[in-house]
Amino acid sequence: EYFKQKDFVPLYSSFESFYTRFLYMCRRDVFERPICSSPSAKTTILERMTKDNGWTFQFTGRKIDVINVGSYNYLGFAENHGPCAQAAANAIETQGIAPCSSSLEGGQYHTQKELENLVAEFLCVDAAICFSMGFATNSWNILCLVDKDCLIVSDEKNHASLILGCRLSKCPIKVFKHNDMKDLEKILREAILYGNRKDKKYRPYKKILIVVEGIYSMEGSICPLPEIIALKKKYNCYLYLDEAHSIGALGKNGRGVVEYWSCNPKDVDIMMGTFTKSFGGVGGYISGSKTLIAHLRKRSPLVRYSQSLTPATIQQVYQSMRIIMGKDGNGQKRICQLAENVRYFRRKMKKMGFVLYGSDDSPVVPMLIYFPEHLINWGRETLKHKIGCVVVSYPATSMIEARARICISAAHTKEMLDTVLQEFSQIGDEMGLKFSYAVVN
Ligand code: PMP
Repeated sequence: EYFKQKDFVPLYSSFESFYTRFLYMCRRDVFERPICSSPSAKTTILERMTKDNGWTFQFTGRKIDVINVGSYNYLGFAENHGPCAQAAANAIETQGIAPCSSSLEGGQYHTQKELENLVAEFLCVDAAICFSMGFATNSWNILCLVDKDCLIVSDEKNHASLILGCRLSKCPIKVFKHNDMKDLEKILREAILYGNRKDKKYRPYKKILIVVEGIYSMEGSICPLPEIIALKKKYNCYLYLDEAHSIGALGKNGRGVVEYWSCNPKDVDIMMGTFTKSFGGVGGYISGSKTLIAHLRKRSPLVRYSQSLTPATIQQVYQSMRIIMGKDGNGQKRICQLAENVRYFRRKMKKMGFVLYGSDDSPVVPMLIYFPEHLINWGRETLKHKIGCVVVSYPATSMIEARARICISAAHTKEMLDTVLQEFSQIGDEMGLKFSYAVVN
């Protein structure tokens, strides 16, 4: 009895705070919305209500057809009747659903090798390795590159998967202000000059790894890659670049932030990306030198302990990448359409007075709502107006920088974008969200 009662702490107690419990839990219907069609430019959302203070959901039975600005379908490859669907269906027919064991244990389809070769060719590097999950690609591979005697210098807005990967490596981490090259240089200088002071010999860190993203997923900002490469060279560091949102979506040929800034891909030591966005699939890759990839193949826990890509996913990604690289103009058309849609949408939104974050070239469009309370209203109102729009707040953003995150796609027609703009304008007026209009006028 004594042991049962005295030290008993309810399992979830330390995770409850005002915001998670009262604000989010009771209104969770704006998050985790299930869809029941492909996540293309138009999709269908199943409406549901929260019950029991948010612990459970109840479907209302209503299916709502929406214009979808919530999915990362940047190049429009997510449709179930799209150009890759037949190859994916054939792969299921001939190879089944999943490998049913890890890569090391014979659970890797031969087509994955072909995909890895294509990824390396697309990115103009020597080799690539693919994994079945983008998040895990970051969180379980950084520990193969650095350890406790090294230093990670990480952008403060890096994605949760990168933060987790850095922490799992047990390497000391220093965080620099978002995209602030002066701050990055200050940290690198100090690291080189003073080294690891805990080490009795004051020797410098064994390796220094700079970790950044191409397009930041919550900010829509683009990293100043040429300056980062210059600093990496000046201070003799390594560079890990996460191109989850930029691959396919940036650059004349969709080769991401490296092409956008006309950098040499070989100057980036570790190029990471995901298949979940521009390729309409699932999974992630790391590409770079032959030795890097051979090392990861030997050391990555994902190769030993986790399933590799499924045959349908491999086909989806392979075919979409081939289209992007193809000379028939289809890929080019999508890339140009995306760029045009992004510029059009961002310009109109700013003109209406909404406050946007990020670069004018970024398909991730964070629209500031500021207060988490308003966020819930925005999520509910947009659904009423038949727009599928994602809202994000703490802990993905700071507490007072809640935002709607709009993802623009090449598959959006001008009519669709105009409808979205018109509905947003009306909701924005009703909720008083046109902040910059108020300032300018
Ligand atoms: N890196 C970044 C920058 C991301 O935004 C995400 C997810 N959106 C990931 C990695 C994880 O990728 P995935 O969703 O493919 O697991």
